[in-house]
Amino acid sequence: MNNHNFDNDFSVYVGIDDTDSASGMCTTYICCVIMDRLISCGFRVDGPPRLIRLNPFAPHKTRGNGAVSFKIVLKSKKEVEQAKKIIRDMVGNLAVMGDPKTNPGLVFYEGKITPELQDYAIRTIRTIVSQEEAEKLAGNLGADIFKYKKGRGVIGSLAAIGCPLTDATYELLAYREPANYGKKRMVDEDSVLGMNQKTYPNTFDNVDDGYMTITPHTPCPVLYGIRGETMGAVEEAHKLVKVSEPIEFFRVFLTNQHTDMHLQNIDAISNMKQFQCYIVPGTVRTQPVVIEGGHVIFVLEDESGEVECAAYEPTKKFRDVVRHLAPGDQVIVYGGIGNKGTLNVEKIKITSLAPVYEYLNPICDCGKRMKSAGKGKGYKCPRCGSKMPTGSEEDVEVREKREIERMIKPGFYEVPPSARRHLSKPLVRG
Ligand code: ATP
Repeated sequence: MNNHNFDNDFSVYVGIDDTDSASGMCTTYICCVIMDRLISCGFRVDGPPRLIRLNPFAPHKTRGNGAVSFKIVLKSKKEVEQAKKIIRDMVGNLAVMGDPKTNPGLVFYEGKITPELQDYAIRTIRTIVSQEEAEKLAGNLGADIFKYKKGRGVIGSLAAIGCPLTDATYELLAYREPANYGKKRMVDEDSVLGMNQKTYPNTFDNVDDGYMTITPHTPCPVLYGIRGETMGAVEEAHKLVKVSEPIEFFRVFLTNQHTDMHLQNIDAISNMKQFQCYIVPGTVRTQPVVIEGGHVIFVLEDESGEVECAAYEPTKKFRDVVRHLAPGDQVIVYGGIGNKGTLNVEKIKITSLAPVYEYLNPICDCGKRMKSAGKGKGYKCPRCGSKMPTGSEEDVEVREKREIERMIKPGFYEVPPSARRHLSKPLVRG
């Protein structure tokens, strides 16, 4: 027994994933219900549960690609077996087994969190890993895995146990009475705006542009989630939120949300891979264009290659910044490469702006600005009628070159809270 401490206690990490479906339930809820049952059976749960967000581009995710883990401390091997049985049965009963896309996985681990396990967790957050790899690692570590149906959830369960949290935030999740699932959430918006005013930036991303963002839009058990820097901050904020429906219970999760843990530094565009997220420096190559649907697109380049970047419609006002970029601007883009190979921009740091010029028609000897005399026909003065036949609209030499004032400034810009990925670090977190 490698974690048998001086108190003769047995620590068991429990990881759970892939229990919910788009039509209902939530892995965090199942985690809480299981923890409460264990506590009511007299077992000790050590510390808050952890909500670990994994690669936002993982192919089988339902929504936010979250997995959970918690630690129990037990007195004897017999208790370990009892607790495991309770958890196994509860996952089997509570998971949405009827959905073909739900393939729960459960991991019990009694060892130390090794660098290998941490590395696996980070790769699950940054890349796509296989179930085979997860099962092999679990085997090497001596972890117990339980697969329901295909058991794909073991990938996330093991990562949720192993994820190092050098930076972390907290989310308080309040759950609805089951009778209210699917109904309109009765949360008083004014109280949320007030809560935000009192607790921001110790809590963050709970309001966007005058609207609350704490309520999900899915039929899941979550009434609201409040995000913040400390357990105290989210608990204080929770007391300020008024609701007119019962809260079944609430719980605070320790989480890697809003830490940028999904992003990898990369120094060559050509080395970027699909379904991974990066911090990539480069030069804007093309004038950004607005395409159908309101998405703003531009091409970023470096010596190694180029990549199309997008600020999608849901990023709202952030698109105004991106739209005002110009060829030659030096930027660092934070974002992930999705399905179509486009870099989905989450944040951008404009390090330097290129000069942008406009070309004005030449001034006539009489002092008046000349007008075009027609395509390729030079210029004509509207006052004295003089002509400038040698010039042409394409001939920049005779035209007056004037630097245009740029509409944006160097600095960091980010998408609004409503469009932010769970893992994306808001600038207010520094
Ligand atoms: P919710 O956020 O509502 O809990 P979800 O979006 O987390 O749902 P899941 O139902 O957990 O989605 O499904 C995600 C599946 O993808 C899980 O089986 C998980 O093990 C697996 N998975 C997670 N990350 C990766 C990854 N990096 N590579 C491969 N598979 C992954």
